[in-house]
Amino acid sequence: MKKPKNKNTKAYQEWELQQLRKVCLNLWKEVVKFRAGSRCEIPGCEAGPKGLQGHHILDEKLFIALRYDPENGVCACPKNHKLGKESFHKNPIFAYEFLSKMRPASLCYLKEHCHDELIITKEYLVKQIVKLEILKETYKKIQ
Ligand SMILES: [Zn+2]
Repeated sequence: MKKPKNKNTKAYQEWELQQLRKVCLNLWKEVVKFRAGSRCEIPGCEAGPKGLQGHHILDEKLFIALRYDPENGVCACPKNHKLGKESFHKNPIFAYEFLSKMRPASLCYLKEHCHDELIITKEYLVKQIVKLEILKETYKKIQ
């Protein structure tokens, strides 16, 4: 989307919201990655830090209230994210077993919040960006 010139138009507000969503999602990915120590979270996985991805445990388009929530994220290598038999996208049994063994608190949290509803506003995104920036710096320091 191209940046509209006039700030008082609906097109500009939509553009601004889209920019904030991008910033928020990128920060979410960084928080998820730094929290995991820049490693794939799957025990025994020896994939290097290159190509690590942030996976949304609950789908980001359906569970909008959890889209930018780090509890809803796992850091995984491409094989464990989308590609292999032991991946979050291809194997829900693997995904559930990982969560119950390695991230039980996140699992409880997601069960509790999976019906939350949220309308993504500019105000919400600005607040979430601040929260995620603080988390990112905190996790970066303890690397
Ligand atoms: Zn992996």
